[in-house]
Amino acid sequence: MNITDVKAIPLVRSLDETFFGGTYRITSRNTLVTEVWTDNGVVGQAFGGDEWRYQTEIVRVIEEKFKPLLIGEDVRDVEKLWDRMFYCELDLENRSIHTLDLANKAVQMQAISGVDIALWDALGKSLNTPVYKLLGGFRDEVPVVAIGGYYAKDKGDRELIAEMVGYQEMGLTGVKMKVGRVEVAEDVRRVQIVRKATGPDFVIACDANQAWTPDEAIEFCHRVADLNIRWLEEPVQWYDQLHGLRRVRQAGKIPVSAGQGEISRFGCRDLILSEAVDILNVDVTIAGGITEWRKIAAMAGMLDISMGHHEEPQVAIHLLASVANGLYVEIFPDRDRDPMWYELPVQQPVIRDGYMKVPYESGLGIALNHEVISKYFVNPSEVHNPQVS
Ligand SMILES: [Mg+2]
Repeated sequence: MNITDVKAIPLVRSLDETFFGGTYRITSRNTLVTEVWTDNGVVGQAFGGDEWRYQTEIVRVIEEKFKPLLIGEDVRDVEKLWDRMFYCELDLENRSIHTLDLANKAVQMQAISGVDIALWDALGKSLNTPVYKLLGGFRDEVPVVAIGGYYAKDKGDRELIAEMVGYQEMGLTGVKMKVGRVEVAEDVRRVQIVRKATGPDFVIACDANQAWTPDEAIEFCHRVADLNIRWLEEPVQWYDQLHGLRRVRQAGKIPVSAGQGEISRFGCRDLILSEAVDILNVDVTIAGGITEWRKIAAMAGMLDISMGHHEEPQVAIHLLASVANGLYVEIFPDRDRDPMWYELPVQQPVIRDGYMKVPYESGLGIALNHEVISKYFVNPSEVHNPQVS
C-alpha cells in the first residue's frame, strides 16, 4: 500500500447563471481533483473545494512540496503523513507578521485537505471498506437538506414558494435558505411565506453568510421565533465571530451554526470554547481533510456540539454518517448551481424519503468521469475568475 504518485488537477466550469447569497455572488464552480496512486494498483481519488484565487498555489504545494514527502510511504499512516504535510517548510514567504500571511496557511491547509481525502479513499479501496465504516459507521443514511432560497432578479414570492415546494416534492428533509441580503423585515417575511407553504414539519434553516450585526441577527431571531427555525448559520459579520455569535446564540434562542471558514481544529476549538456555536459546519475540503475532521468531531461531541458540513456532499455524507453527533448533508438541487456534483461522479447517491444512502462501495464510493475531468481541466497558471463578493 505504498504511494507511487500524487496528482492535483484543477477544474473550472462557468455557471449558466449568477447566484446571489447574503454577501456574495457566484459565477463559476471550481474544484480540485486529487489523486494518490499506490503500488497495489489502487488510485485514491477525491474532489472538493471551490477555489479560484489560490488554486494555482494549492496545486503547486501538492505537486512540488507534498508529493516528494509522500512517495514510498504507506497510505495506512494517515496521521504520520498529515503531520509531515502540516509541519513541512513550504517556502510561501510567510512572514508571520500580518494577517495577509495567513492566506499562505489557508493554501497549505486546503492542499493538505485534498491529499488527505484522496489518502482516505485509497485506504478504503485498499481495505475494501467504505470510508464511513473506517471512521466508525454510526448510520447508513443521512437526512438531506437543499441549499437554496437564493436572491435573484425578478424572483418574487411565487417563484420562491415554487422552489421550496419543489424541494419537498423531491423528497428532501428541508432547506437551508439564504437571508441577509435585504432588510431584516423583508427576510422575516420571506421565511414566513416559506414556512406557510411547506407546513410545520419541513426543516428550515437560515444562512446569513455573515451579513448582520449581532443586534440585527437577534432581531431576526425574535421575529421568526414561532417559525421553528432549525438553525441560523453565520449570522454575524466576519470581525465579530466569537463575541457576536455568542450574543446571538444566547439572546436569539435559535441554534447557531458557524465554522465553514475555519482552516484547522484550533479555530474550531475556539468557537466551541467561546460558546459561540451549537453546530460546527467546518468544511473538510478547507480545514485539513478527514484526519483533521475526525479530531474536530470528537472534540465537538465531548462538548455537546453537533457537526454539520458546508456543502461537498461527496465527502460529507461519509463524515456525517460516521459519528453520533452528525446532522444533515447539504446538496444543491439546482444543477446549475453545482454542476460538478452532478457531472463529475459517474453515479449519483440514492436519495429517498429525505435521506441519502451512504455509498457502500469501498473508499468514498464515487468513481469520477474522466471525460468531465478532461473537459474542465485548466492549466493551473490560467485559473482566473473575476467574481467578486
Ligand atoms: Mg453557509
